[in-house]
Amino acid sequence: MIRKKILGACFSAAAALGASYAGVAADAPATRPVVIKAAHLFDSVSGKLIDHGAVVVVGNKIQAVGADVTVPAGAEVIDLGDATLLPGFIDAHVHMSGESSDNWYKDFYQGVMRFTAEQALYAARNARVTLEAGFTSVRDVGSTDYISASLRNAINAGIAEGPRMLVSNYAVGSTGGHADQAPFPPDRIAPVGPLKGVCNGPDECRAAVRYQIKFGADVIKFMPSGGVLSLSDPVDVPEMTQEEMNAIVSEAHTWGRKVAAHCHGDTAAKMAIAAGVDSIEHGSFLKDDTLAEMKKKHVYLVATMFAGYWVGQKADTFPPAIAEKARAAAAHIQETFAHAVKIGTPVALGTDAAVEPHGRNAFEFELMVKNGLPAAQALLAGTRNGAELLGTADKVGTLQPGKLADIVAVPGNPLENIAATEHPVFVMKDGKVYVKKT
Ligand SMILES: [Zn+2]
Repeated sequence: MIRKKILGACFSAAAALGASYAGVAADAPATRPVVIKAAHLFDSVSGKLIDHGAVVVVGNKIQAVGADVTVPAGAEVIDLGDATLLPGFIDAHVHMSGESSDNWYKDFYQGVMRFTAEQALYAARNARVTLEAGFTSVRDVGSTDYISASLRNAINAGIAEGPRMLVSNYAVGSTGGHADQAPFPPDRIAPVGPLKGVCNGPDECRAAVRYQIKFGADVIKFMPSGGVLSLSDPVDVPEMTQEEMNAIVSEAHTWGRKVAAHCHGDTAAKMAIAAGVDSIEHGSFLKDDTLAEMKKKHVYLVATMFAGYWVGQKADTFPPAIAEKARAAAAHIQETFAHAVKIGTPVALGTDAAVEPHGRNAFEFELMVKNGLPAAQALLAGTRNGAELLGTADKVGTLQPGKLADIVAVPGNPLENIAATEHPVFVMKDGKVYVKKT
């Protein structure tokens, strides 16, 4: 609980894909085929826009896609007009169990004082607004008190509304590092250990990974470098040894879990890449040779530029030690992403939602385009690439027959106006409609 603001604000700081989903306020499950039509469709297999888009949905699956689909007899037709159909968006870096306001000190107090069950209700709200923003899958990379695992289970059971969630439980890291709790006086609040992700030495780090998996982690998140919104660590230095990183990644991979590494600093990122991570999160101070190594090894950059932008805007409101780190990261994160684009490093969309408000995730598309990624590539980063990184590409990430019916529509043509992604007019997840503005 006490770490909530720290982990929940981590920039600083297997979902049941086929599950039957009976959303409380959603439309009733489809009992007849549904054909969704719009002026355009973004084909995230080819990365191209096609005109006269249509998707045929039967139950929770896509049956046909394209300009020339046959409308099945008795089908319900939803014509969205001047809009573009896309696969449901995927955010590879969120923290559903946290959120921040304009007042760091208030957030910190709430993080300490809220009951776990109380915070879980906020998390449920965060999940709902994320889904309504068009994000039908997320990877939740750091949560305390098993709130995000609980939320995932509740969504899969149909008693809460939200995206498909992969969760990490506690992020794993060293004593005093970005995964540890704030430096409370230890005679008042006891230090924590591997059960809550804090580990020192390879054996403890393996134990920390095993604990997270024991309690339901789909993915492992760890903290090779310092963070921005944490109080006791420098942002850009390695906080773990190579042996500790190797132990975390090999243990996670042995258990069939991918690994996301929080790295602002370049040295820590190089060590994490050598250990075999699947993605580098944030990457504020990465150098070009590191980005090139990521391209060579197909390690994704999940840049969370929105979080950098947000903490940069708010830096004056933070405690001085954090303000300095926020300004430094904000000054570099977009430029580093622009370098990654030029080098050809694989990128997946992630926002660090919780650092900034939930439900505005699509602003990251705009920042990607602003920093040199062509709009079609940005849309792929938030759909197909995200599914590949999450390990769910066999189910979601593209509009193709046989895949789950996770479908979003945005007004007009997002290749001409990427900001259209921030205003979805239609959201379907698992064949059920959550947003329909026609
Ligand atoms: Zn984070």
